[in-house]
Amino acid sequence: MTAHLVVLSGPSGVGKSSVIREALRELPETWLSVSATTRAPRPGEVHGENYFYVSQDEFDRMILDDELLEWAEFAGNRYGTPKNAVAEKLAGNIPVLLEIEVQGAMQVREAMPEAVLVFLEPPAWADLEARLAGRGTESATEIQVRLDAALKELESSGFFDHVVVNDDVVSAARELIQYLK
Ligand code: 5GP
Repeated sequence: MTAHLVVLSGPSGVGKSSVIREALRELPETWLSVSATTRAPRPGEVHGENYFYVSQDEFDRMILDDELLEWAEFAGNRYGTPKNAVAEKLAGNIPVLLEIEVQGAMQVREAMPEAVLVFLEPPAWADLEARLAGRGTESATEIQVRLDAALKELESSGFFDHVVVNDDVVSAARELIQYLK
């Protein structure tokens, strides 16, 4: 059986990272792709681990050289998935997980129709607002931009193969694992 490519999308603040952390604990052979971004690192984030932090020029170059499987602009920054690393892992039969926003997920569906697209949904809107405000990593303006984007993203959940409600991290992770196996 060949390894799966699973895309996890969902609004900013829904808890994608927590669900992924739990899923990787259960299925450590999974490889989580590291994206390139033009966003500045948050305190504690590490280049090459959380993201590859690149300049606008470098991001332009990556697009021109066709190095990205998909890319999108989100809340004023660009984010993209380096193509080669994903291909190498899949060729080595290693399951691959992408944590990307909705526009990127749609591009992956075009480029790799065999990919499994999973949308993580908050149990309630208030939950998303509380989590975004609570994590304290974005300014009030940035939070508003992300909430506006979240409204649009929630409307796109119908395009996904599976919708998982994040009312409990462990059970959401368990569902995600099913698709990686
Ligand atoms: P953050 O700035 O909170 O790390 O990420 C903002 C959004 O960009 C999140 O929804 C995250 O999933 C998404 N994202 C991260 N990496 C990529 C990527 O490579 N491509 C796309 N399309 N979205 C990404």
